[in-house]
Amino acid sequence: MKNIAVIGAGTMGNGIAHVFAQNGYQVNLIDIAQTSLDKGIATITKNLDRLLSKERITEEVKANTLNNITTFTDTKKGVKNADLVVEAATENEALKLKIFKLIDEFAPEKAILATNTSSISITKIASVTNRPEKVIGMHFMNPVPIMKLVEIIRGYSTSDEVTKTIMELSSNLKKTPLEVNDYPGFVANRILMPMINEAVETLYNGVAKVYEIDNVMKLGMGHPMGPLQLADFIGLDVCLSILNVMYDGFKNPKYAPCPLLVNMVQAGKLGVKSGEGFYDYSESRKAEKVAKQFV
Ligand code: NAD
Repeated sequence: MKNIAVIGAGTMGNGIAHVFAQNGYQVNLIDIAQTSLDKGIATITKNLDRLLSKERITEEVKANTLNNITTFTDTKKGVKNADLVVEAATENEALKLKIFKLIDEFAPEKAILATNTSSISITKIASVTNRPEKVIGMHFMNPVPIMKLVEIIRGYSTSDEVTKTIMELSSNLKKTPLEVNDYPGFVANRILMPMINEAVETLYNGVAKVYEIDNVMKLGMGHPMGPLQLADFIGLDVCLSILNVMYDGFKNPKYAPCPLLVNMVQAGKLGVKSGEGFYDYSESRKAEKVAKQFV
């Protein structure tokens, strides 16, 4: 494995490109929007500068990492010589199916096709390709350069050989890969999202306020961030969409999203990215200022 194509230069895509490039892989970073590519490269540069200032990398590593990345707006060209494609485009099933049809046609026959999807079925994505045994989930966590886990998701048809290759590759990135099977929410979100939903439900039922709920989990359970603050960080729309995937997939009411979460998304209160969620980010995007007073 030498040539990696990363599709999507957003939050996750630029992090994935960064990690591969810093570990010596040649990366083709692909996005339909030139502005996303420019922003992605700017973010990678900023993150490398931070590592440099902390003396975690040298000037040479920074230069090599940036040299290892080439940007493309044409997916067909970008995947032409790929040994592995990692798709990290917008979370939309129809879009992902379209991208996988395209890359199946234009990436080399031997290439492995991975997706960073948080919730869409790997088996379904694989089914639109002519190589379902070579399609796999590589679920990186945000922020990619920092978080150690890669959840490796085996679709129904993913081969043992492909799984082994991707597990080894993830270790080469100095990450810890953990193998799971393809069922709604995989493992990470199947456990995390019901916890977040229960925190919203606790707020909705008036059991406690935002500050108390988050700090019970921080101080009592040792979580680095409370569940409501984490939901704001992930995006309330993303949380809602993952809960809906699990609700539809299992037909089990325990995954039904809390009406307060639904209402907040409908009101455009999506968390950090919209400036307001369970906390107000109008003055600082970094941390909560004042928890909104829910009853
Ligand atoms: P994002 O919105 O930040 O970035 C998505 C990028 O995809 C955009 O730059 C967009 O221009 C690009 N794009 C859209 N259509 C494209 C196409 N046809 N070809 C090429 N590029 C295209 O999204 P994100 O948060 O980086 O999420 C990307 C994927 O990673 C999603 O599947 C998401 O579920 C998953 N994920 C996100 C997180 C997270 O915390 N944000 C965590 C784990 C997994």
